[in-house]
Amino acid sequence: MTAQLIDGKAIAAQVRAEVAARAAKRNAEGKPKPTLATVLVGDRADSAAYVSSKQKACAELGMGSLNQSLPADISQAELEKLIASLNADKSVHGILVQLPLPSHLNEERVLQLIGVEKDVDGFSPINIGRLAQRGREPLFVPCTPAGCVYLLDKSGVQIEGAHAVVLGRSNIVGMPAALLMMARNATVTVCHSRTQDLPALVKQADILIVAIGNAEFVRGDWIKPGAAVIDVGINSKPDATKKSGYRLVGDVNFDEAKEVAGCITPVPGGVGPMTIAMLMQNTLRAAEIQDA
Ligand code: NDP
Repeated sequence: MTAQLIDGKAIAAQVRAEVAARAAKRNAEGKPKPTLATVLVGDRADSAAYVSSKQKACAELGMGSLNQSLPADISQAELEKLIASLNADKSVHGILVQLPLPSHLNEERVLQLIGVEKDVDGFSPINIGRLAQRGREPLFVPCTPAGCVYLLDKSGVQIEGAHAVVLGRSNIVGMPAALLMMARNATVTVCHSRTQDLPALVKQADILIVAIGNAEFVRGDWIKPGAAVIDVGINSKPDATKKSGYRLVGDVNFDEAKEVAGCITPVPGGVGPMTIAMLMQNTLRAAEIQDA
């Protein structure tokens, strides 16, 4: 292996320790506990698991959490009423609506209702709009892309002036990751399912961020020698040697890419742990903003 391994698990643990120390200091000063409200609609097992790991992280870091579990057939009006009540509740600092919502609900309207000061997922149109405009500061940046940038910074990767290629343009990862790279003065190419000659574009990347949800899609010989590779993908791949019958792999063929890249995130243990760490950081900051 020639690439430096970017240890997301260790870096996330440092972020969590810093957040826990700041939360403890607030508690000692008698300030309200930073508290995250999670809103889970329906009974998707993966969404329930994500919500429970977010609540667990709050407890571990000395922060509060409140979960609202709602039936899958809840009406738009009832969900909007709940968001309005969480916006008004002074004991709640951050509101996270676990996505995706059931298809009868209007996700855009729900996200738009979350107060900008409580939008710890950074998905409200105001925060995304500010991220997209020069000279405007979002209060919160989406957690997974923020984690990608944090990993690059911690690994000493120069972002300014670099050519960043982002694979994927989803609202939650690819698009905000590209905006963040642009805000940091990288030159950005965004690729998606209709992009022609992907390998040639990937080859130009000093920084490659991949979020497409396609197991081991990016091959080692596409990668520019010395590039920083951030693999956001989480895919399960059949593996008879595992008790579960599968193992997790990223969107990049790690075994090939590690021989070419300058640094690379593994899957698991790369970007994944950063997402919750950034959410905890955002929730703490929401409490700090709301103190003022
Ligand atoms: P989406 O399915 O919402 O978006 C995928 C994007 O990839 C789309 O923009 C799509 O293009 C593009 N794409 C798909 N196939 C190709 C291809 N063959 N070539 C080029 N572009 C392609 O996925 P998400 O952004 O939500 O998630 C991406 C991956 O990241 C998933 O594996 C997911 O599990 C993981 N993830 C990990 C997180 C973490 O914490 N580590 C958090 C969130 C996601 P188009 O727009 O044209 O359809």
